[in-house]
Amino acid sequence: MTTVVQASVSAMPISGQTVVAGVVGAPVRHSLSPLIHNAWLAKAELDAVYVAFEPKQGTFANFANGLRGGIIRGLNVTAPFKEMALSLADDCSPRAMRAGAANLLVFQSDGSVKADNTDGEGLLHAFRATIEAFEPATGPVLVLGAGGAARGAVAAFLDAGAPQIRILNRTFDRAEQLAGLFGDRAQAFHPRDMDTALAGVRIVINATPLGLGDATLQTLPFERLEAECTVMDMVYRPLHTSFLEQARQRGLRTVDGLWMLIGQAIPSFQALFGRPPPDIDIRALALASLETPH
Ligand code: NAP
Repeated sequence: MTTVVQASVSAMPISGQTVVAGVVGAPVRHSLSPLIHNAWLAKAELDAVYVAFEPKQGTFANFANGLRGGIIRGLNVTAPFKEMALSLADDCSPRAMRAGAANLLVFQSDGSVKADNTDGEGLLHAFRATIEAFEPATGPVLVLGAGGAARGAVAAFLDAGAPQIRILNRTFDRAEQLAGLFGDRAQAFHPRDMDTALAGVRIVINATPLGLGDATLQTLPFERLEAECTVMDMVYRPLHTSFLEQARQRGLRTVDGLWMLIGQAIPSFQALFGRPPPDIDIRALALASLETPH
């Protein structure tokens, strides 16, 4: 059985016609997506609600397939279901195929499911929202990690014109496999080759779930990064990660994971509700929630 773990009520009264959409993940209890989407829905005065679902282990496919036909409008998908979400869709966007994962499923009335991946767009949004005149093509990009988020980051930056992506991962084989998917502009690095991997990079992206406390990141020699380098951490809980703090102490520009979360939510809202989100300070709302102890 699937538990509805979070449901905020929009400004409109819920009726038999209220559109339902949501986010699915495990765990999903601390997802900020319901807060973000319901705030937008309330401001836009749409008769819709956005909830969170946490299917029991092994039941994701049944859960998602049971929604075919438009029982709900669609789902954002978070860990650990993104790859599975892509595999059960009937129609996948090119960027979802390239990322090897879907973070958005839209249920069509004919019973088919459309998959997309807005994480890459969210990642680029994060840089554009934070860095003035951000230019992804200025130099090599180093991605730490080789999981789903790393794959999406590699695809997004290559598509945005980055001349070279370096992938460094604890498990070197996985870095090699990931680089192998993207051709000559992607290269795998073993953690022991950190110095070579860092040479001349313009952007460093942490696509692992770690902040400080991990040997790999603790030893990232920030002093070797050039002053023009920008450091991004996909982790947004906590927002002020030790990884970003070390970069700031080195005087580098930083980009946090909350901007990415908001950046992927904007096109998701458009796909789910057929209009762009209204103009409210959604980051301030999300920040207030992050700062509230749970
Ligand atoms: P994933 O598929 O599980 O991949 C995790 C990666 O981190 C793997 O490469 C793994 O290395 C590495 N890793 C894990 N533990 C490690 C450790 N102790 N030492 C060194 N490396 C370690 O996860 P994911 O889906 O890619 O997500 C990664 C992070 O991005 C998560 O924190 C997620 O919340 C975040 N994220 C944020 C957003 C956003 O909107 N801000 C969006 C997507 C993802 P191995 O290959 O060696 O196991």
